[in-house]
Amino acid sequence: MISKGTAQDVIPVLKSKNLKSGVSYQDGQFDDSRLALNLAQTAIQHKAVVLNYFKVVDLLKDDANNVCGVLVLDIETNIKHKIKSKVVINATGVFANKILKLNGREREPLKIVPSQGIHLVLDASFLQSDTAIMIPKTSDGRVLFIIPWHGKVVVGTTDTPNVKPKYEPKPLAEEIDFILNTCKVYLSNAP
Ligand SMILES: Cc1cc2nc3c(=O)[nH]c(=O)nc-3n(C[C@H](O)[C@H](O)[C@H](O)COP(=O)(O)OP(=O)(O)OC[C@H]3O[C@@H](n4cnc5c(N)ncnc54)[C@H](O)[C@@H]3O)c2cc1C
Repeated sequence: MISKGTAQDVIPVLKSKNLKSGVSYQDGQFDDSRLALNLAQTAIQHKAVVLNYFKVVDLLKDDANNVCGVLVLDIETNIKHKIKSKVVINATGVFANKILKLNGREREPLKIVPSQGIHLVLDASFLQSDTAIMIPKTSDGRVLFIIPWHGKVVVGTTDTPNVKPKYEPKPLAEEIDFILNTCKVYLSNAP
């Protein structure tokens, strides 16, 4: 537990209105895009063949109707290739239901229920600290993070259910408003 005064020493932009005290805790941070690249590099070191911009468009089946590979589209050349394998792992995130459908599983209950979330990137001046803020209870009953990130500040997230998964999702106006309005309650210089 840290007192109101100490909290503002660490994060000078914290609004003092209604602030009684805070809780200080330690957490880890990593660069998710670097992690994805490092994962691919490590897989290559272990003799994996990593294919980027290759989209699975169908599943290959053997005579017993078991999955035995994938039909992929090379997005850069528009050429399709058959890739045979002993095992196919469906790790396509919010798109996983699409691959299940390719396997004739469209009548089963959905395995993944997609939602979308956004971050906003703000100028570092809005936080002025190396310490992140975690707001434990937002108006929609979740948490909001305000985090120093590569010389900027990342704020998020939202959780909007029932969205159609897209490769290039766009933030909704109400998501942007929710983040800005929540920040306004805690930051003395409202973004
Ligand atoms: C704004 C936001 C903030 C978040 N913050 C956190 C956080 O702080 N901590 C946390 O733990 N989680 C967080 N999450 C959740 C986390 O990002 C996801 O749970 C996680 O990325 C899911 O990983 P995945 O590997 O299952 O899917 P993804 O990371 O979505 O990977 C699926 C991959 O499959 C590929 N793909 C899809 N269809 C095909 C196809 N037909 N053929 C070939 N490839 C295909 C996609 O291009 C993608 O690269 C956050 C999510 C959002 C949106």
